[in-house]
Amino acid sequence: MTTTRSRAERVAQARATEAQLTADGIDGVVFGWVDNAGLTRVKSVPLAQLEHAAEYGVGAVPCFDVSLVDDSFTTAPSSTGPMGDLRLVPDLDRLTPLAAQPGWAWAPADRYAQDGTPHPGCQRGFARRVTEAVERRGLSVRAGIEIEWVVADAAGDPATAGPGFGMTRFIEHSDYLRDVLRALTKQGLAVLQLHPEYAAGQFEVSVAAEGPVEAADTTMLVRHTIRAVSARHGLRVSYSPVFTEGSLGNGGHLHLSLWRQGRNLGHGGPGRHGLHPDAEQFLAGVLAELPALLALGAPSAASYLRLVPSRFAGAYRCWGLENREAALRLIAGSTAGQANAEFKCFDATANPYLEIGGVLAAGLAGLDAGLPLPPETRSDPAALGSAERLPASLSETTDAYEKSALLRQALDPELYEAVLAVRRAEAELFATHTDADVIEAVRWRY
Ligand code: GLU
Ligand code: MG
Repeated sequence: MTTTRSRAERVAQARATEAQLTADGIDGVVFGWVDNAGLTRVKSVPLAQLEHAAEYGVGAVPCFDVSLVDDSFTTAPSSTGPMGDLRLVPDLDRLTPLAAQPGWAWAPADRYAQDGTPHPGCQRGFARRVTEAVERRGLSVRAGIEIEWVVADAAGDPATAGPGFGMTRFIEHSDYLRDVLRALTKQGLAVLQLHPEYAAGQFEVSVAAEGPVEAADTTMLVRHTIRAVSARHGLRVSYSPVFTEGSLGNGGHLHLSLWRQGRNLGHGGPGRHGLHPDAEQFLAGVLAELPALLALGAPSAASYLRLVPSRFAGAYRCWGLENREAALRLIAGSTAGQANAEFKCFDATANPYLEIGGVLAAGLAGLDAGLPLPPETRSDPAALGSAERLPASLSETTDAYEKSALLRQALDPELYEAVLAVRRAEAELFATHTDADVIEAVRWRY
């Protein structure tokens, strides 16, 4: 579990790492955080400034709490426009020299007010608070986000001709994929699988599950690393939900398992497929809140061009063992530790800290209410007239989010309102766009 460290601890950490960073040839450290539109924003410092930055943070303008995918700004009740400042404080527990960006190291940042108190709009702080609430219940969560991406050539066209999951595609990009694997591994990331996916130019990597905040950090680090390796190979990368109109898109499936005292509550229990009662209630809580949670996990207008039936995207609010059209696919795994729940409806336009924090908050509410898990969907939900579709547009999702008492309460009011403002503004921004225009506008932003 990541902890917030005192100023003195952070200074001691910076001092303790400096010699090693110098030996590693590191010139500077980039501090990243993810805004409410799901874009990573950064600042960097030369190594000589790391200690000062660890102690006081570096300045960050608060208006990025309401920045949109196109870098324009909207307003929320707490907006101060051009005024004010925040401090980006690197979490040096996660400091990582970047294998594909020689000379640079990376650290995820928490955002603080200038007086050193946590910024209420900090998304990473939100994920940490909800994780602490889970732990107070004697539970823990292991999470991981699958990453799908499209590689394109300099002209922006998919850079592979080979078939989905095909060896041809693997051979075409053999050196590239080796470098992706090497860079991730060198950075201490536990890669589980790497393969060509189905859509044109698409690949996928999965990494081992870890704590919720760590998993959100990891997903950002993996994405940055893939992008950096790609750049070295003259390739462009898109994590956007839809790259090619009408084709399967890029998902960002969230895998979760709930644990108590070293026991996976998704395995060996008396419920369906071995679920323990706590796991059933937790998953029921997430399913109940799913339309509103899409505002955190599928937050772009482009998300709804991916989240359609028959694309393995999980467009229906239901669950089923190994059901790839259900928003919640239950995975039995081959060992007790592997059983987990996969939320397929989410994508990589999400801020992973908001997504994971929101899902955990909804799961805890399911536990509090003792919510029953609805009956399982054992076939393609599209074929059942009765299956409930998830929202089909960003504005529908935003309506559900606005009505969600649960999320309103779970997020700090400042963060809740900023997210709402960004969702409304992006829905409006794209209201008159054709699907092709939305895809075009978003394609290279993620
Ligand atoms: N690419 C699909 C999506 O948009 C998922 C394919 C799969 O891994 O099941 O989520
Ligand atoms: Mg996949």
